[in-house]
Amino acid sequence: MYKKETQSVHSGTQFDEKTQGANSPIYTSTAIGYLDSEVTYPRYFNTKNQLAVAAKIAALENAETGMVFSSGMAAITSTLLTFLKTGDHIIFQKGLYGGTFNWGNSELQKFDIEFTIAEGNSSTDFEKALQANTKIIYIETPSNPLLKITDIKAAAEFARSNKLISVIDNTFASPVNQNPIDFGIDLVIHSATKYLGGHSDICAGAVVGSKNLISQIKPTALNFGGSLDAQTCYLLERSIKTIFIRVNQQNKNALQIAGFLSAHAKIEKVFYPGLPNSKEHEIAQKQMKGFGGMLSFELKKGNIIDFQKSLKLIKPAVSLGGVDTTISAPTLTSHRHVPEKDKIKEGITDKILRLSVGIENVEDLIEDLQIGLNM
Ligand SMILES: *Cc1c(COP(=O)(O)O)cnc(C)c1O
Repeated sequence: MYKKETQSVHSGTQFDEKTQGANSPIYTSTAIGYLDSEVTYPRYFNTKNQLAVAAKIAALENAETGMVFSSGMAAITSTLLTFLKTGDHIIFQKGLYGGTFNWGNSELQKFDIEFTIAEGNSSTDFEKALQANTKIIYIETPSNPLLKITDIKAAAEFARSNKLISVIDNTFASPVNQNPIDFGIDLVIHSATKYLGGHSDICAGAVVGSKNLISQIKPTALNFGGSLDAQTCYLLERSIKTIFIRVNQQNKNALQIAGFLSAHAKIEKVFYPGLPNSKEHEIAQKQMKGFGGMLSFELKKGNIIDFQKSLKLIKPAVSLGGVDTTISAPTLTSHRHVPEKDKIKEGITDKILRLSVGIENVEDLIEDLQIGLNM
């Protein structure tokens, strides 16, 4: 089998018979002939462009197969509602992506599906949340915005011994840095809007896993309709060809910036699993190949809006995972609807900024941060 970098370029590519070119052709038709083949339609998740990019993502995650969606949330909700029905229960780890948290909070009760947000992200916390009707354990690591690390192997073992389906949101790590299926996780989800897309210009999602589980998700996803169009499938396929070069550079830049910030007098704290003194580092080292391009830091004093406005190069923007370095304040963006007392409990203060480190020269990035810190 080819190495991962090679797979990121070649896996799933549809052969271009007309030109013998290097790239998958874009098949634009939604009215597709059916007499000589199975019925094919974008919302059936089975067009050539969907299958091409899904196969590439599955290969990078060591999964048997996968599907792509119109957003990360479409992937998450279609997957979870495949395996949950009225009367069932799901355990969410603490510290989930805001969109996932809001969805659980506002939609699940309509179906009389119960959920528990575990008190933390350890197996003891999951054990405490377990009920007779629990069907799924759902984790996310590194978490947003404090980069907390969940022990993936322990979560997968907890799932196995309690006959649960284990699901992970692997968006922050990307398949370059973390392959949860190797640790026994059943289903791996990505917001492909982030590192898989990598250029802050497409919205997409993916789920990968065994043929058995994915074939169960397909009929439900088809009913919910969160399918991805051919043009975006192709853009995503093209983007993933450079994911190793992008993410490896982002890993390097982030580690260097984390080091710079943690030595700085005006910084209270840096949250990055690659820092040797972080308590998350030990588990991270066991399950991550690189520590990713996401980091957060807490200012000792000063105003986070003024700080962001003073930057020349780093762009204050929501979302993450692009080649451009962006910065955001969780209390003003992803966590603006989280009640004050919950924010305090989680340690998300209004002095915290989250950096999505891009592929620029790291010296320019550090110089820019220095401007903000010198204010
Ligand atoms: C952005 C994000 C999502 C949601 O993805 P969309 O593509 O915006 O629907 C889910 N999980 C994480 C960790 C994310 O960062």
